[in-house]
Amino acid sequence: MSTIRVAVDGPSGAGKSTLARAAAAALGFLYVDTGAIYRTVGLFIRDRGVDLGEEAAVGAALPSLRVELRYDEAGRQRMFLNGRDVSGEIRLPEISRYASAVSALPVVRAYLMETQRELARKNSVVMDGRDIGTVVLPDAEVKVFLTASAAVRAERRCRELAERGTPQPFDEVLRDIEDRDFRDTHREAAPLRRAEDAALLDTSALDFRQSLEALLGIIRERTGL
Ligand code: C5P
Repeated sequence: MSTIRVAVDGPSGAGKSTLARAAAAALGFLYVDTGAIYRTVGLFIRDRGVDLGEEAAVGAALPSLRVELRYDEAGRQRMFLNGRDVSGEIRLPEISRYASAVSALPVVRAYLMETQRELARKNSVVMDGRDIGTVVLPDAEVKVFLTASAAVRAERRCRELAERGTPQPFDEVLRDIEDRDFRDTHREAAPLRRAEDAALLDTSALDFRQSLEALLGIIRERTGL
């Protein structure tokens, strides 16, 4: 039986991971958070003390990197870096910056491409990221570009950080989001953009349930599920 691929792209904090995970659970698909993969690479590069400005040095370090995705009983994705569970650590704001920086390097994107495609060959997936519908899975059956205003995204991120016990001021979070938006949309390697055939879903004025219904509605309409 062939697999169904749902690509969900959009800027930081648009609710992609929460919504994509919930949609995958509702459909019985595997959820793949590709941002977590880039975060794991970011953590690895920081721990190694590799200079991010030296793309060749980053490339030379990659063969000693082993990234694994495992799923716990609740179906949550956990990230392992060379055998160590780093699922908590990769969420720290410092690692967000490293993730954004390493993800701009073509050598890193090329290295991770096959890992992502392999997951979608073996399983029906809801995969979220920045370039899933444009680069990683250009033939995905369903493509969704999920977004929300920068202020709404910053508010949501502040709530999330507070719940994790690492609160940050709104202004800083907003600035971080705007910086990352700029870098993600202006980089040369796989910039964030909406694929021509992606459905646009703006969740600024929607709560979680409404957003999930809208997302599942798009998936059902496009796949007939
Ligand atoms: O989605 P999340 O914020 O966890 O992603 C971390 C960083 O990884 C983002 O800033 C983005 O630059 C990068 N990323 C990417 N391509 C993806 C997923 C994430 O460049 N497919």
